[in-house]
Amino acid sequence: MVNSVAGEISADKLGWTLVHEHFYFAYPGWQADLTMAPFDREEALRVGLEVCQTLKSAGIQTIVDATPNDTGGREPLLYKELSQMTGINIICVTGLFTESRGAHTYWKVKMAYGADIAQMIAELFIAELTKGIGNTSVKAGLIKVSSSAQMTQYEEETHKAAVMAQKATGAPIITHTDELSGIEQADFLLSQGADPRKVLIGHVTNSGDVEYHRAILKRGVYICFDRMGAAFPLGVSDDVHIQNIVALVREGHTRQIMLSHDTVNLSLGRATARPQAVRSVDHICRNIVPALKAGGVSDEQIWTIMVENPRRFLSDG
Ligand SMILES: [Zn+2]
Repeated sequence: MVNSVAGEISADKLGWTLVHEHFYFAYPGWQADLTMAPFDREEALRVGLEVCQTLKSAGIQTIVDATPNDTGGREPLLYKELSQMTGINIICVTGLFTESRGAHTYWKVKMAYGADIAQMIAELFIAELTKGIGNTSVKAGLIKVSSSAQMTQYEEETHKAAVMAQKATGAPIITHTDELSGIEQADFLLSQGADPRKVLIGHVTNSGDVEYHRAILKRGVYICFDRMGAAFPLGVSDDVHIQNIVALVREGHTRQIMLSHDTVNLSLGRATARPQAVRSVDHICRNIVPALKAGGVSDEQIWTIMVENPRRFLSDG
């Protein structure tokens, strides 16, 4: 069984799954600008419905919204409404972003006072996984943690908390990595006792070097090529990722690979031009899957990557 925003569902119902997207997102501090750019629920609902329609017509049945607690845009009740209106399964996270781009201040002040913030954060994660987010009764389905290029002390505490919460609940851990921090991050999580079969190292698309991917895979965890269609932040193109995925599949790593786009479908706050490739949640289905097949990846292997791996990772099985 898996916690979706609309309640528990059987893992068999997940189908084709994107494991790292964002319906809505804003960096912390966006609240300061709410006078100039208030949250427009109607617009958020409109965009969300459009995303769900695009997913449906591409054959995607499940989407993981990886928006953490300390940024803007995690909207459990809106996700629930979208899921009930469209039949798309939505799974949301409990988690925290990196020190530099998240809202660390609250926790770091407690740390300075000597509080055991790993324990406190673990309690928060466990409550959101088992009881619900705030008073919404919508439960998170997985844990998200994030590490900078070099893991900071604060980030070590958030990662410790994630493993504590995993031990208590069995929940899977999905990650954000900056640059090439996936190896250090996987090692840290495993050193704390994380279950490698319940760890998905994200943003391996930061690197076009397949040696980096192999190094993470060696740890027994999953890796996610989750910025397909986005030549950012390090400018690696889809073509390079496709070559690398084909190579890793040939080497027998099919059961450890997942794919997603890391789209932000609505940026909250005031609009700013962003250097980001235009991409949509159907890019993988429409363009990447055919390219992988042309590279020799079989239908069965595509099924493993898009359906079986997310199902195995997200469910207790
Ligand atoms: Zn993301």
